[in-house]
Amino acid sequence: LSFDQMGLKDDLLRGIYNYGFEKPSAIQQRAVMPIINGRDVIAQAQSGTGKTSMIALTVCQVVDTASREVQALILSPTRELASQTEKVIRTIGDFMNIQAHACIGGKSVGEDIRKLENGVHVVSGTPGRVCDMIKRRTLRTRAIKLLILDESDEMLSRGFKDQIYDVYRHLPPELQVDWLTEKMRSNNFTVSSMHGDMPQKERD
Ligand code: AMP
Repeated sequence: LSFDQMGLKDDLLRGIYNYGFEKPSAIQQRAVMPIINGRDVIAQAQSGTGKTSMIALTVCQVVDTASREVQALILSPTRELASQTEKVIRTIGDFMNIQAHACIGGKSVGEDIRKLENGVHVVSGTPGRVCDMIKRRTLRTRAIKLLILDESDEMLSRGFKDQIYDVYRHLPPELQVDWLTEKMRSNNFTVSSMHGDMPQKERD
């Protein structure tokens, strides 16, 4: 499977080739199509295999840049990973005019508010700061259709579970959730069991 055969937007393909990629890596070959087709996916990949780039190109493909609302949210266990993902999204999405923002602890809240109020398509962040921005209603969640949990095994082992659930409860009911892990929790995990792992949503 080549990038050309994935049915990606022209301006996204330009971004991918301009970034220097010629063909999809193994994880990109396997996971890109299911994710852009709206499937809930669990993908296991070691770091350095093209996982961050895979996240970037899938979110660029699903975002509608005609709208100025946040449509994709990526949660990562560390500030460094969240920033790295945001940078790759901005680079690959450059020709599409994708607006991405890293919502991470240790940066000024004022800057988050300013960026989010200006209109952002994609937020890549750490669970604590994202949760905070949602509760302040600075990060509006009603148009979010895709949640990607990067290094989800790492996030759960770092004790982010409650914050992730807190974020999830504020997201729309028709949400697509994709989990990326380095290690599988079990090898007979099925796609349909994933939402079952998540708590009940708040009705408001
Ligand atoms: P990632 O796991 O996405 O951080 O990727 C690891 C390294 O491989 C980074 O330097 C990427 O720029 C590079 N990379 C990712 N996907 C591809 C690809 N399809 N072709 C060439 N290089 C890639």
